[in-house]
Amino acid sequence: MTTASKIPASLRMIPSIDQLLRAQELAQLRQKIGTKRLTAIARLVTSDMRAELSSATGRSTLSNTEADATSLLAEAVKRTIQTCELERSAGSRRVINATGVVLHTNLGRAPLSEAACSAMAAAGRYSTLEYDLLTGTRGTRGGRVEALLRQLTGAEDALVVNNCAAAALLILSVLAGDGETIVSRGELVEIGGDFRVPDVMATSGTRMIEVGTTNKTHLDDYRRAINQSTRLIMRVHPSNYRIIGFAGTPQLSDLANLAHQSQLPLYEDAGSGQLHNSELADEVPVNNLVSQGADVVSFSGDKLLGSVQAGLIVGKSSIVDKLRRHPLYRALRSDKIRLAALEATLDAHVREKATSEIPAIHMLATTATEIRDRALPLIEKAAKGGSTLQIEMVSGDSAVGGGAAPGSPLQSTLLALTHEKLSAQEIETRLRRFSTPIIARISDGKVLIDLRTVFADEESLLCDALRSI
Ligand SMILES: *Cc1c(COP(=O)(O)O)cnc(C)c1O
Repeated sequence: MTTASKIPASLRMIPSIDQLLRAQELAQLRQKIGTKRLTAIARLVTSDMRAELSSATGRSTLSNTEADATSLLAEAVKRTIQTCELERSAGSRRVINATGVVLHTNLGRAPLSEAACSAMAAAGRYSTLEYDLLTGTRGTRGGRVEALLRQLTGAEDALVVNNCAAAALLILSVLAGDGETIVSRGELVEIGGDFRVPDVMATSGTRMIEVGTTNKTHLDDYRRAINQSTRLIMRVHPSNYRIIGFAGTPQLSDLANLAHQSQLPLYEDAGSGQLHNSELADEVPVNNLVSQGADVVSFSGDKLLGSVQAGLIVGKSSIVDKLRRHPLYRALRSDKIRLAALEATLDAHVREKATSEIPAIHMLATTATEIRDRALPLIEKAAKGGSTLQIEMVSGDSAVGGGAAPGSPLQSTLLALTHEKLSAQEIETRLRRFSTPIIARISDGKVLIDLRTVFADEESLLCDALRSI
């Protein structure tokens, strides 16, 4: 039989959409994703197969199989299931973070506390978002969160928006949109690729007046830049980098004095939002910024605070109230789910239970010895379960991540995985394709697993994955 006469015959044997939808193997899938979606996928699959069979190149896998109706139907079923799985894995899925990067931006920054998760679930129905249970009348959105923020930072008032970028935009627009904002050249930061101080300034309408140099900015540099059009002095925390060596900026309290002498507010974009003293280099707690004279401070909810994405603003009542009343606030304000999670997280901070209850803070506080004590039994269990991986324990570093404390690597104990037949890339891929995907890193030809960011109740899943390789 010549190729020319074989093609039309095999094309006729491609299953119809109806035939494919009736296939027993797809019955469950049809229940799961619905007839409409399954039909659309079936149509795609059969039209792909038709294109492949009629292509002159004959390079497709199809032209190599015996093109009879049964095998074409089986192939179509297989492809339909694969397409559905691909669609599913493209969505948001839970993963196990074995990278040791605590605030991993690509993996959703801070993991939430159990209290925050249940608070979000509870708020999912109706909630007292803007309702006062005592009086049965309208209440204030985020009132409790604002009160907790006041307690934690000592500020007069507080406000919550979508993220720290939104907070910066709101503050710059409202306080300085019609004039100039002074900022040091050493603080024109870019965070995570799309938050850039000069761009946010431009969007807000304020004119950015840069002072000083990259490494040194003096109080006098700020003083000389102040004029009739000045509306604000802004300080930006260099979250994800440090200038070391011959470098310096004025003390916050000195800068605050200068601002106040000229009746100007001082704004600090603190970024990571540390609420307590910690050992992380150069992360100043927000309450210190407030007590040293910053009139308004913004920081993120999902960095060192350990909660959901949010932009938290604390400061003088006169300023925060102005922000609250501005139409832009209405566009940037928080929903009930975020507020519920924040409230639960801040509550743990106020009760001084952050280290035990908030996962990100717990992970940051874990020592290399504690991690080794978890690693030992895990290695044993994996080996007993017949894993063909070579697993050794090595010391190495975890990272804070999320653009915070770049100067504070965290000492850790890592599992280093190698295999006789598999490359590090292949091991990494298998872990990533595991039923609960495990995200690990590769260094020097080894796959590294850092238990710092793996929850204790995820260890058995991790062990199953190691055994399955
Ligand atoms: C992280 C960060 C931001 C951006 O915060 P998001 O909450 O991600 O919008 C802004 N400024 C500083 C200094 C930061 O560290």
